[in-house]
Amino acid sequence: MEKAYRVLLYYHYTTIEDPEQFAADHLAFCRSLNLKGRILIAGEGINGTVSGLKADTDVYMAAMEANSLFKDIIFKIDLTDAHAFKKMHVRPREELVTLRLHEDDIDPRQLTGTYLSPKEWKEAMLRDDTVVIDARNDYEYDVGHFRGAVRPDIKTFRDLPDWVRENKAQFEGKKILTYCTGGIRCEKFSGWLKQEGFEDVSQLHGGIVTYGKDPEVRGDMWDGQCYVFDERLTVPINQVDPTVVGKDYFDGTPCERYVNCANPECNKQILCSEENEHRYMRGCTSACRVHPRNLYVKEHNLSPDEQQERLALLGESLPAYE
Ligand SMILES: [Zn+2]
Repeated sequence: MEKAYRVLLYYHYTTIEDPEQFAADHLAFCRSLNLKGRILIAGEGINGTVSGLKADTDVYMAAMEANSLFKDIIFKIDLTDAHAFKKMHVRPREELVTLRLHEDDIDPRQLTGTYLSPKEWKEAMLRDDTVVIDARNDYEYDVGHFRGAVRPDIKTFRDLPDWVRENKAQFEGKKILTYCTGGIRCEKFSGWLKQEGFEDVSQLHGGIVTYGKDPEVRGDMWDGQCYVFDERLTVPINQVDPTVVGKDYFDGTPCERYVNCANPECNKQILCSEENEHRYMRGCTSACRVHPRNLYVKEHNLSPDEQQERLALLGESLPAYE
């Protein structure tokens, strides 16, 4: 049976006069269609991902396409068995992606890198005068990326410009290719690269998600999974020769299973097998394992003796709180 739900991923740079009011109206509209997800509204446009029943997403897409503000908006569509979000949020924001360039902010409608189709992108990647920069965060890269892409050592997008300036030497004289999940981050980042003086800058149009669906390239040269910002956490891209690049946080073995650290004050997202989740009580550090509010301990009703037993196997022990 075909899956009943869809996940839509989309953005559009356009001028929205009153983002606060627009967000409130748009939230009501999304709720009327029983959509769930996260949408950001800024003076510079819209950036969203929502899930819903097929018919409801059809109504949503038709309404957006009929609105002159969103002329030529592109929806990336995935099929899924259930909602990919718990709630519906529509939030007004200063910017659609957090780059904080302030007075040097980029309007991608004025300045952005050359758009490459999936086929053009694949051909460009194979040339030896190109360098591929992953415009995403380190934890996104670690579960999957284009073969040979440079991994910026950053935790958030706004750190990317500084990282490029510090690593400038490896890009000089090269044709730069940038990519991200759905394309929105590269609209700005590739424009910023040009403003920064890099002459030959191109971006993957529609991002990784579009590349994975292209009937010709079929995700070729993508290693691992693609991290997504919804409850699915990762989606497959490569239909040609899929591989696993994610590594278990504890023992480094191939792994694509994400969990959050059981210490609610840490909540760090880590790749971890089921076996290691039990072994380490889902704590990313010794301190997280013995944290008094460790959720794993609570979920499994572990007594202090049982905790002590697991810790002993790791050469650790419960601190004496009393
Ligand atoms: Zn932790």
